[in-house]
Order: sequence, then structure tokens, then C-alpha cells
Amino acid sequence: MTARLIDGKALAAQLRAALAPRIVALRERGVQPGLAVLLVGDDPASAVYVRNKIKACEDTGIRSVFEHLPAGSSQDALLRKVRALNQDARVHGILVQMPLPKPLDGQAVVEAIAFDKDVDGLHATNAGLTLMGQPHFRSCTPYGVMKMLESIGVDPAGKHAVVIGRSNMVGKPMAMLLLSANATVTLCHSGTKDLASITRQADILVAAAGRRGLVTADMVKPGAVVIDVGTNKTPEGKLAGDVDFEAVKSVAGWISPVPGGVGPMTIAMLLVNTVEAAERAARSQGR
Ligand code: NAP
Repeated sequence: MTARLIDGKALAAQLRAALAPRIVALRERGVQPGLAVLLVGDDPASAVYVRNKIKACEDTGIRSVFEHLPAGSSQDALLRKVRALNQDARVHGILVQMPLPKPLDGQAVVEAIAFDKDVDGLHATNAGLTLMGQPHFRSCTPYGVMKMLESIGVDPAGKHAVVIGRSNMVGKPMAMLLLSANATVTLCHSGTKDLASITRQADILVAAAGRRGLVTADMVKPGAVVIDVGTNKTPEGKLAGDVDFEAVKSVAGWISPVPGGVGPMTIAMLLVNTVEAAERAARSQGR
């Protein structure tokens, strides 16, 4: 069997194109969706992620506000910046690029973001609402994975979904969204014993461990949907996922590549959440 490809790049382009009429409708009501992106320090990888997000905003018609604070900034300075953005009516979404330089406390900064501007879906209120099956903003990466499943016509209901990784940003919200979609969910982590025996039961396998080549062909049930969230670097400096793509594609039914899979979907869902935030703000102002 050769797996069919889940083309995240093409799907992300479709979702972004579908935002255009919503952005036009907002403009007609005097609102331009706005996203503030905060970067602290000079980490090159973070700078690339931020540039990509800002470019995506510009391409889509979303106003972006880039705030760059120096590496030695204090927690207070960062919190003041977030609070000012909370008050800025032209800013509908706020994103703080993680990880923050030490000793800054990333979660405390996320908690300072108004939950209705937390378009990354990481605020405790948004995480809690997702847990309760009533999401306000879904965390962008798991939201993107759900859209990928929808795009290939795979309904998680009744399926066994296995998620590798339990971070607050990816693994846990992923498990919650799959659970809300009526999958039977198993959440694995570094303490999981005999990972392969669990992944082999998965109808849907989401790998989000950040370990290159962790998922090998013998760990995959024939015909399974395999979605690779991992972004790792090869010794040659190329991007690679957690899944041994070449081997697994001959076992799986569907597989997402890295690059060109979950990565573009994460950015697309950030834009979707930002437009949603602007629409909610416009409605609450009676526009
Ligand atoms: P993280 O916070 O480092 O969490 C990694 C998780 O994987 C942890 O729960 C860890 O378990 C688990 N884990 C690590 N090694 C394992 C192993 N050998 N077996 C089973 N579980 C293992 O990372 P993250 O933020 O969730 O991100 C995960 C990966 O996705 C990274 O490569 C990241 O770069 C990528 N990512 C990609 C996108 C995208 O848009 N493409 C977005 C976000 C993240 P413990 O909890 O026990 O330590």
C-alpha cells in the first residue's frame, strides 16, 4: 500500500482564501482584523516563525503589529506590553512567540493576555473551555490537524486515536479535540511503556514528540491515518518530522509530510482565529 498524502500546504491555502470574503465583510463594517505578535530576544528560529506569521497576515489582509523586545527585558516590561495590547481595540489577537528567553515566565505572560484575544488558544480559560468541549479558541496546531482529518473525510467518531506527546500547546488539546469528536483517545508520553504496542492500535496516529524518526513502519497499523506534527532538524539542517516518512508511507492509508503538512495549517488556523476574534469584537460593538 502507498499512503495518500495529506497536503497541508494546499489545504492551508484554501482556508486562507476562504477568509477573504469574511475580511471584506469586516472592512465594510469598518473593522480590519489585527494581530499583534510579540517577540522577545534574538533567537533565529523564533524570528523566522514570527516573520512567517507576519507575512501570512499581510498576504491575507490582516493588519499585523510587530512588537520586538530586547533579550534582557523584564517580566514586568513584557506584561505591561501585553496589557497595553489588551486595551488596543484595533488588536483582535495577541500572540507571544515561545519559548521566551530565560528567566521569563511564558505561561504567566499567556495568562496576562485577554482570553478573548488569545488566538493561540493557550490561556488557561481557553484550555479549560476546550477540555469542557466548548472551545472558544482552539489551539492552532491541533485545530489544524482536525481540519486535515475533515479534509480527507475521516470522522474520528468511534476510531482509536493515539497522540504521542502531552504538551499544553499540542498533545493535550489534540487529545481533547479528538475526544470531543468522539474518538477513543490514548495519550502517550516519555513515560509510556511499549509505545509501539499502543501506536499499532491507532486508526489515527498523531506524532507530536519532537523526536526525529520516532515513528517507524512497524509501529503503524496498516491503513492508519498518520499525522506528523514534529519539526526537527536533520544533521544536514533540513526539516524532518517525528515519522519515518519513507517507510511509513508504505503502511499507512494517509500520511502528512514535513515540511508541507501541519506547519502551514498552524499558521492558517492562527489567521482563522484572528478573523473570528475580529468578528466577535465587531458583533459585541453592534457593528
Ligand atoms: P514538547 O513540549 O517538548 O513536548 C513533547 C512531548 O513529547 C512531551 O509530552 C514528551 O513527554 C513527549 N515525548 C518526548 N519523547 C518521547 C518519546 N520518545 N516517546 C513518547 N513521548 C515522547 O513539544 P511540543 O511543543 O508539544 O511540540 C512537539 C513537536 O511538534 C516539536 O517537534 C515541535 O517543534 C513541533 N511543533 C510543530 C508545530 C507545527 O506547526 N508544525 C507546532 C507546534 C509544535 P513528557 O511529557 O513525558 O516529557
